[in-house]
Amino acid sequence: MASVSLLGRRYRYVGPPDLRALVRPEAEGRSIHSAADFVDWASALAAVELAEPFTFVVDSAGVLRLAPRRSEHVVCAGGGPVLGAGEMSFRKESGQWVVGEVSNQSTGYCPDISSWSAVAGALDAAGIEHPPGFTCEVVFRRCPACGQLNIVREEDFICALCDEALPREWNVDGAGAGL
Ligand SMILES: [Zn+2]
Repeated sequence: MASVSLLGRRYRYVGPPDLRALVRPEAEGRSIHSAADFVDWASALAAVELAEPFTFVVDSAGVLRLAPRRSEHVVCAGGGPVLGAGEMSFRKESGQWVVGEVSNQSTGYCPDISSWSAVAGALDAAGIEHPPGFTCEVVFRRCPACGQLNIVREEDFICALCDEALPREWNVDGAGAGL
């Protein structure tokens, strides 16, 4: 089993401070340690909910946590740092639940694409099959000049607000963060 240090960077919450107020122990995402955990959790959901992508985080222990769609990532994580965050959908294949689509779409944590290794590690540990990488990748960058959080599209590393060049390396949690 991989140690936490091999799983990669920890991401702290960088979203709007007021969403932190929603964090409550009973609202934390369901920890998924095994395929059986997922089946147990999914059995309590309506079919319409199962058809939608879930909010997920990989907690600081490397464990996958799931919450219904539109749940805030910071609430799913119980307010703590994460190794990965995004959205994930499941489908049934040969009687097994497998991951269909998975992204790093989380404006609360803005994880780097390299967080995939932690996501894959959490799914592997639970014995849930998954794609070889994010099926949708979001490139988050903080503008070093104005502090604006940008989502980079089509390799266009330019701030949407002030036209300043954005760095090639992930920097959301670095200089200019904490606005
Ligand atoms: Zn800017």
